[in-house]
Amino acid sequence: MALYGLEADDWHALGREVVDLFTALLRVDTTNPPGNETACALLLKDYLATNGIASEFVGETAERQNLVARLDGVRPGPTLTFMGHTDVVPADAAEWSVPPFGGILKDGYVWGCGATDMKNQVAAEAVALARLKRSGADFAGTVKYAATVDEEHGDHCGVRWLCQNEPDTLRSDYLINEGMGGLWLPIDGQKVFLLAAGEKAFAQFRIRTRGRGGHASVPEKEHSAVIDLARAVVALGLYDPPAIVSPLTAQFIDAVVTAADLRARLKDPRTARAAGAELRRLDPEVASLVEPLLGATFTPTMLHAGQAVNVIPTRAEACIDCRILPEMTADGTRELVATVLEPLGIDWEFEWVDVTTPNASPAPTALSESIARVLRRDVPDALLAPMCSGSFTDSRWVREYFPDCIAYGFAPYVVESFHAMQGGRDHEPDERILVEDVTYQALFFERLARDLLA
Ligand SMILES: [Zn+2]
Repeated sequence: MALYGLEADDWHALGREVVDLFTALLRVDTTNPPGNETACALLLKDYLATNGIASEFVGETAERQNLVARLDGVRPGPTLTFMGHTDVVPADAAEWSVPPFGGILKDGYVWGCGATDMKNQVAAEAVALARLKRSGADFAGTVKYAATVDEEHGDHCGVRWLCQNEPDTLRSDYLINEGMGGLWLPIDGQKVFLLAAGEKAFAQFRIRTRGRGGHASVPEKEHSAVIDLARAVVALGLYDPPAIVSPLTAQFIDAVVTAADLRARLKDPRTARAAGAELRRLDPEVASLVEPLLGATFTPTMLHAGQAVNVIPTRAEACIDCRILPEMTADGTRELVATVLEPLGIDWEFEWVDVTTPNASPAPTALSESIARVLRRDVPDALLAPMCSGSFTDSRWVREYFPDCIAYGFAPYVVESFHAMQGGRDHEPDERILVEDVTYQALFFERLARDLLA
């Protein structure tokens, strides 16, 4: 029986090769901080060397080396980079049903911290590179490979450092990295795969109010820092900013919303908010993907005021987690905040907490078309839905330093759906991936390189 176009023996051999490398990576504790990613880079260097591929350590410190490699094809052509980070977030072993750094195979899954974020992809990309080399590198152009450090905690010695200090290691026409891309939803009998073409950014801020202090037995309702702050928090937390429907979001709505009438209302900025609320009632999971793409989100998360229950505090403050789209700016966001708070007639101060830059690569492109073509061959009812992800990855540095590079987050899960994975397992206890899914990822990356660099 053939699986994804491979004979059963070849499929199982591929699975063993992927799982061997993958579980070896999972058994290295690369919790960041401190990282210690060089131990993973050594495993990858050995694996690539066994397959006749030279690779190089580059980095800032001995313990935190990035590993980079390149494989030139037999004729000139564009460059495709496979990128992935080897560090992981801290895991609390007490919350796991298996040891988080055991690299355990159980119930058809590979379990471990980094199983989906993203040692799976790091291993699958390395195996794809090895298979391309073993078959004679019969493609045009170049495939680059980069196993990078320091994504989860800081950004000082990983991709940003490479962009600044060793730009040739990542310079490319196309780049594949992590993101929400590769998860799929069942929609109208089709498998709709997310493609992370862009990323929202932080525009997190703090609101501070001031009032008259004193004994709590004598309240002054008109001059209360706490009451003013509470009004500001309610107003911002319930605020739906004006909808923006970018071309990317319109494409995404077309792919994931089946009812024509609702689709049309979602794509019209004047009706998008109400239509989003309707979608939330009909299909909360699709709504959770679509609604954040319609504009900025304002989520109050932290409140501070007062030291004692019988003392009126003179100041109070709230932190608001705000995420903005590539079409928006931090300055524009601050103006939105003013339009919400000014009508309240309170005294308020504004301060940024963290601001990053939203970014996106265009879609469709030759790379997204190639991804769709390869997927459709292997998964007959596959459809690709480019979108802007709510979280950020190292793709933001690539897009900043190499504006012409098309960078997407994508690693396909062909069996388990977005629903089965409850939106994904990154940063969660019992992080795991089906052996079939990670095996296919290796095959997919190899076929992607062959198709794009034909
Ligand atoms: Zn990650």
